[in-house]
Amino acid sequence: MTPFSTITPIEYLKGVGPSRAEVLKSELSIYTFGDLLRHYPFRYIDRTQFHKISQLRPEMAAAQVIGRLVQLEERGERRGKRLVGQFMDDTGIMELVWFQHIGWLRKTLTVGAPYVIYGKPAIFNNQLSMTHPEMESYLPGAKNTGNMSLQPVYNSTEKLKKLSLDSKGIQKLQVALLEAIAAQFRETLPEYLLRRHGLMPLPQALEAIHFPANQQVLHRAVHRLKFDELFFIQLKLLKNKLLNTQRFKGHRFDSVGEKFNRFYYERLPFDLTNAQKRVVREIRRDTASGAQMNRLVQGDVGSGKTVVALMSMLLATDNGLQACLMAPTEILAQQHYHSIKKLLGEGIASVQLLTGSTARKDRRIIHTQLEDGSLSLLVGTHALIEDAVKFKNLGLVVIDEQHRFGVEQRAKLWRKNDIPPHMLVMTATPIPRTLAMTLYGDLDSSVIDELPAGRKPIKTTHLYEHSRLRMFGLLKEEIAKGSQVYIVYPLIKESEKMDLLYLEAGLETLQQEFPLPRYRISIVHGKMPVKDKEFEMQRFIRGETQIMVATTVIEVGVDVPNASVMVIENAERFGLSQLHQLRGRVGRGAAQSYCVLMSGNKLTKESKLRLETMVRTNDGFEIAEVDLQLRGPGDLAGTQQSGVLDLKLADLTTDQALLTEVRNSVIEVFHNDPQLDSGEHMLLRDYLFRKEAGIQWEKIS
Ligand code: ADP
Ligand code: MG
Repeated sequence: MTPFSTITPIEYLKGVGPSRAEVLKSELSIYTFGDLLRHYPFRYIDRTQFHKISQLRPEMAAAQVIGRLVQLEERGERRGKRLVGQFMDDTGIMELVWFQHIGWLRKTLTVGAPYVIYGKPAIFNNQLSMTHPEMESYLPGAKNTGNMSLQPVYNSTEKLKKLSLDSKGIQKLQVALLEAIAAQFRETLPEYLLRRHGLMPLPQALEAIHFPANQQVLHRAVHRLKFDELFFIQLKLLKNKLLNTQRFKGHRFDSVGEKFNRFYYERLPFDLTNAQKRVVREIRRDTASGAQMNRLVQGDVGSGKTVVALMSMLLATDNGLQACLMAPTEILAQQHYHSIKKLLGEGIASVQLLTGSTARKDRRIIHTQLEDGSLSLLVGTHALIEDAVKFKNLGLVVIDEQHRFGVEQRAKLWRKNDIPPHMLVMTATPIPRTLAMTLYGDLDSSVIDELPAGRKPIKTTHLYEHSRLRMFGLLKEEIAKGSQVYIVYPLIKESEKMDLLYLEAGLETLQQEFPLPRYRISIVHGKMPVKDKEFEMQRFIRGETQIMVATTVIEVGVDVPNASVMVIENAERFGLSQLHQLRGRVGRGAAQSYCVLMSGNKLTKESKLRLETMVRTNDGFEIAEVDLQLRGPGDLAGTQQSGVLDLKLADLTTDQALLTEVRNSVIEVFHNDPQLDSGEHMLLRDYLFRKEAGIQWEKIS
């Protein structure tokens, strides 16, 4: 016999063949036996419960009845033609009705025979009936072969149904699949973990998830498979983390020297918050350890990540090494460059900006200075990881908003040196704990959980269109106090034209309400030439205009401490993290700040929840949790590379406790046996290093 396994191409499965295989691939991405095995049922029909005909009610979603088919006849003409059966048990009689496959049904159904039927009860013309019920011959002896258990229901598609691969058809394939390979299923986890966590053995779980004997068995099977999904992601992540620190030596930043100290004592215009101090200490400890640092710094908007980044970069220069800071967008890179230059002042360290729009000539100079070491600090975008960019001795890389950078890109930066540089990753958007564990599980993590002193929490309100005048009133009051305000409009590619029209209309109203010369308005949107944008931004930053009307380009942009109001138009169209980022543009000074969310009257349940959440809390982490629950991990940036999208069963929003349990058990495994040398960890070792053990999930593509 051919030794089938999880990597056997699906066309070799009994009952599949080339044409069905094609469609399984194109419709469900099922390429191998393993892929099919992982095509788990999305629900189960509880076939353990039976009803008597007298108990059936039209309110029931579905019911199962044992009885006898006592009559079968065709009624009606042409389009009204239908097959009607009479079905009886010891409590009553009901009609079964079919509009399709009449000829075939007449041939296969036997009048007088006992059946188990399943379907939705209905009352039609005062008569209890079921339309298109599932019919199975009743075999009293065959309790465990489908007649009387939880029946799996599989996702299928129209194309698959044409090839008889509806849920039932797929169920048949699963039976064939288990027959072919179940004997080869192997446990993947060490015995002691199974015992400690009360886990069902893997081979059993893989069969039970398709054909559970009862609810309890199903529950245990699902739990076991969720555990596996999360376990192997964590195993890989934590392995990377261990290998990074154990294998990769890092530059040792022995001296906290002149530059760091001069900046700290002479230039820093404020006291660091305790949280900032703690994180700087953590970074100093990491970089002095001799191993490569991989640290994630999470901090809410306005928590002061930039200065932490800068001080870390100065640590590198104090030790004769270069440092760079990489941002995901041109605007953000520019802003970092300007704020770093401003904070740093003259005479401590040289800093340059390198982005896609840096002129050729300047670029060449930067390249040269990087290579001869005369340039110490570099800020930029993806342009930093181009091959032409060579550092003399890169000691630290800071990545802002890392979730937009792939793991690959991170790795590329490492390879720029013999000794890999220390990596500091800063996220501007807080991410929920569970997601952090999966997205950044390979990093140590620091949290700046404190805002600079004197900041007052931003007051947020949600107003409907008819209260627009209240909003104008607030703007006038604030401007009268000498503050500045933002008014942000959505600009979304799909509806760009409409959005711009809307912005123009809004602008007209504003110009009437806030006339010259008393009020001055800046306008910035993505469709403007870069130069004009820059000019308008600068006018606002210098305080020459009091109102900044903008599309979301300002989201990651300006830092104007004098701005005290953020108005967001059509707020219902923004995502939560975007709203939070926008709101973070105000509240940067000592004055009370406001955020006004303007929306239309018709709100979906989801947008209502988003706006309510914004009004309720300023806490970025809390907002991120709600965001994850609303959108699921798939829509959150950065999840693509993380493996969380491969999760078939585990759910990061509801399985937090399990994830923590799993992660702790992985940590314990590595703690007890870092190289996974012991016999009981052979399976894990195989999985990580040879990828041959147990179930191999990887596709052959
Ligand atoms: P983010 O964490 O959002 O990147 P920034 O680094 O841009 O925050 O800092 C926000 C503002 O707060 C900046 O104007 C910065 O100069 C200021 N700031 C940072 N740390 C402090 C502090 N400890 N005390 C007062 N102001 C601070
Ligand atoms: Mg920032």
